[in-house]
Amino acid sequence: MSGVLVVGGGIGGLTAAIALRQRGFDVDLIEREPEWTVYGVGIIQQANVIRAMAQLGVVDDYIHAGFGFSTVEIYAPDGRRLAVVPTPRLVEGYPSNVGIGRKALQKVLSDRAFGAGARIRLGVTVAALEDDGAGVSVGFSDGGSGRYDLLIGADGLNSQMRTTLFPEAQPPVFENQGVWRYNLPRPADVVSLHAFEGPRGIGLVPLSETVMYMYLTTPEPGNPRYQPEKLAQTMRDKLAGAAPRILALSELITDDDAVVYKPLESVLLEGPWHKGRCVLIGDAAHATTPHLGQGAGMAIEDSLVLAEELSRGGGTTDALARFQERRFARCRYIVEASRAICRAQVAGEPVDQAKATADMFKRVAEPI
Ligand SMILES: Cc1cc2nc3c(=O)[nH]c(=O)nc-3n(C[C@H](O)[C@H](O)[C@H](O)COP(=O)(O)OP(=O)(O)OC[C@H]3O[C@@H](n4cnc5c(N)ncnc54)[C@H](O)[C@@H]3O)c2cc1C
Repeated sequence: MSGVLVVGGGIGGLTAAIALRQRGFDVDLIEREPEWTVYGVGIIQQANVIRAMAQLGVVDDYIHAGFGFSTVEIYAPDGRRLAVVPTPRLVEGYPSNVGIGRKALQKVLSDRAFGAGARIRLGVTVAALEDDGAGVSVGFSDGGSGRYDLLIGADGLNSQMRTTLFPEAQPPVFENQGVWRYNLPRPADVVSLHAFEGPRGIGLVPLSETVMYMYLTTPEPGNPRYQPEKLAQTMRDKLAGAAPRILALSELITDDDAVVYKPLESVLLEGPWHKGRCVLIGDAAHATTPHLGQGAGMAIEDSLVLAEELSRGGGTTDALARFQERRFARCRYIVEASRAICRAQVAGEPVDQAKATADMFKRVAEPI
């Protein structure tokens, strides 16, 4: 096999392009958006992602672009520190967690994918697709066409490729919760994730020497739409009654345009993730709520495992089946354990964040 089309230039698509180029595959990648339009806030990633970034050959650029740390601090809703959870490293000499801006991560990955020789086109999507068993013929939205040995759908939560390949699949489910994120100046002592327990999850995540972000998860029954010009006030209101430190920081939430609010959805494709010469990776196959901070990590690991299985040969169908077999239980664990935290928070039930974090670290430390 040689020619692969990757549909979607997010975290999964770009890492797939890098991993496939490392193994000598010819890669075209198309991204629907005409520019890289990722949010200005950040995400948290853990030791397994740092291990994956090392395998992709981007770990130094990645760490340099973010903020590394190796403990997680757990706080009671009233602000008392309950635990400092050490988190095991998986790559010698590197931290076990990274907070990184989405734009910074996108730059690291897109620079490497371009540099590795993937042909990337922005503002293009799939207009027509036909898999005749010997190859996949694709018509593009810009009028062009191509023929490929494999198509990888890395087009995210609301995947067009998922609905095209598996029209009967269940769509994503709204989890009755939303997450609010805002960048703030980083106080000198926020050098690791500070996670506040309670029915609202609140956290502070360092992103760089000068910036951190605050996240806040809130029950959102009925999935309300919020007025863009009131987002800062709404986020501040939702923080009412939080720990004193959080309340003091909330005074700095003033720019409506800088508030990123997302209703939370999840989906797990229970059946095959592949059909013929097409396969889904990342959120297209298994989108999780962010309670364990592992959604992007699962997409990146998918990329490595898929490239490895494809390069082992033995036929595309077998390679895609082996790929899913290696990935399914791990991705299911992340989706279900994250949903459990989400649903407990929505129900106002206690959540043992320290245990959930320690369990997750143990599980994702296993080889991929
Ligand atoms: C609020 C929130 C917080 C999160 N926090 C974390 C965190 O802290 N840590 C973590 O690991 N994960 C986190 N995640 C999850 C993480 O963002 C996703 O798991 C990850 O982005 C999945 O990567 P992906 O490439 O599969 O999809 P995406 O990153 O969504 O990328 C899909 C890409 O495909 C493009 N596309 C879509 N349709 C088409 C089409 N038809 N044709 C071409 N291109 C198309 C999109 O424009 C996009 O660029 C969070 C998610 C949310 C919603």
